[in-house]
Amino acid sequence: MGLFDKFGKLAAERASLSDSHPFGIRIDEMYSPTEGSIQGKRVILAGTNNYLGLTFDPDGIKAAQRSLELEGTGTTGSRMANGSYAGHSALEEELVDFLGRRSVIVFSTGYVANLGVIGTLASAREVVLLDADCHASIYDACKLGGAEIIRFRHNDVADLERRMVRLGDRAREAIILVEGIYSMLGDQAPLREIVEVKRRLGGYLLVDEAHSFGVLGAKGRGLAEELGVDSEVDILLGTFSKSLGAVGGFAACHDAQMDLLRYASRPYIFTASPAPSAIASVRSALKAIKERPELRRQLWTNARRLYQGLAESGYQLGPQASPVIAVMLKSPHEGLAFWRALIEKGVYVNLVLPPATPGAVTLIRCSVSAAHTPEQIDQIIEAFASLRSPVDLVTVGA
Ligand code: PMP
Repeated sequence: MGLFDKFGKLAAERASLSDSHPFGIRIDEMYSPTEGSIQGKRVILAGTNNYLGLTFDPDGIKAAQRSLELEGTGTTGSRMANGSYAGHSALEEELVDFLGRRSVIVFSTGYVANLGVIGTLASAREVVLLDADCHASIYDACKLGGAEIIRFRHNDVADLERRMVRLGDRAREAIILVEGIYSMLGDQAPLREIVEVKRRLGGYLLVDEAHSFGVLGAKGRGLAEELGVDSEVDILLGTFSKSLGAVGGFAACHDAQMDLLRYASRPYIFTASPAPSAIASVRSALKAIKERPELRRQLWTNARRLYQGLAESGYQLGPQASPVIAVMLKSPHEGLAFWRALIEKGVYVNLVLPPATPGAVTLIRCSVSAAHTPEQIDQIIEAFASLRSPVDLVTVGA
C-alpha cells in the first residue's frame, strides 16, 4: 500500500468538484485590506477575517518595519529554549492590562494557544464538555490532552446542563469549552446562561474569543465583556490572526497560576515563538482597538448592512447579524458554482463544505471588515442578488 493510498476517497471527492475549487486559491496581489487580485481579476475581499481592517494600518506597518530592522526576521527558536524577546513580554503585559486579568501567555498561533492550554489542562483524568460547533483546534486540543470528551448540542444550554448533571460530582471539575462568535454561522454563545449553569453545578469555563476579540464589548475585549460575565470566564483564548491582523495567539486568566503552563505546555515549549515584527504590529493593533472604538462601530454598521441586504435578497443566513455571515446553500456543487460566479462578479468569499460545516450544510461564508466602504458592501449584495437566477449559476459553474 502506498503512503498516500488512504487519501483515495478524499482525492476522488475533490476531483468531482472540478479543477477550479477554492482549496489552494491564490490571491496574487493585495491592494488594501478589502481589495486584491485573483486570476487577473480585481476582487473585493469578503472572506479574510480582517475584521478591523488593520493589516495595512500605517502605524502597524511602521512598527513592524522598525522591529524588522532592530530585531531581525525571526526568533529562530522557542521562548523556553532561546528566551523571550522584549516585545513578547511587553505584549503580555499590555494584554494583562487591557483584559484586566493577572496572567497572559502569548503563543505562536491561535491553534497552538488552544493546543497549549486546553491540551495541557484537559489531561486523561479530566472530562471536557464542548459545544458541538467548536473549532477543530479545540477538538484537536482535547484529543492531545486525552480527556474524556462530551459534546453538547450547539448553543443548547439545557443539553449542557443535562450532561453535567449526569456527571454527578465530576461536573465540579469539568472543563466547559465554547466560543464567543462561532466561526461558521457567526452566532454567539449564550454565555450568561452557561455561566448560570456553572454557578450551580461547578466546572471551569474556557471561551475562545478568536472571532469576537476586538469585535464585541464596550472596550473590544469580546463576548464575555459584552455580556458582563468576564469574571466568570476562567480562561479567555484568542488569536492575533483576525482583528489584530497578524499571526499568533494568547490565553488570559484571572488566576496568576496559569503562568505555570509555561513549564508544562509542550505547544508553548517546543515551537518557535512569534516573529518580533508580528508582535510589534499586534501591539500597534491592540492600541488601535483601545483608542479607535469607531473601527468597531464601523464594522457593525457594515455587518448589519450586508446581513440585511442578503436577507432581503432572499438568502437563508445564519441566525444573527454578525461580522461572520453564513449563506446556506443546497449542495457542495451549488456552493462551488456560486463561489466561482461570485469571483467572476468581483467578490471573494469563503466556500466551506461538509464535514467542516455544522449539520453538513454547504456554506458561503462572508466576513465583513471595518475597512469595507458602504459602496463595497452594496457591490457584494448586488453580486449575490444577481445570482438568485439559477441560469447564472449553471452557465458560470459549468
Ligand atoms: N479558534 C477559532 C475559533 C478559530 O476560528 C481559529 C482560526 N480560524 C483558531 C482558533 C486558530 O487561530 P489561528 O489562525 O491563529 O491559528
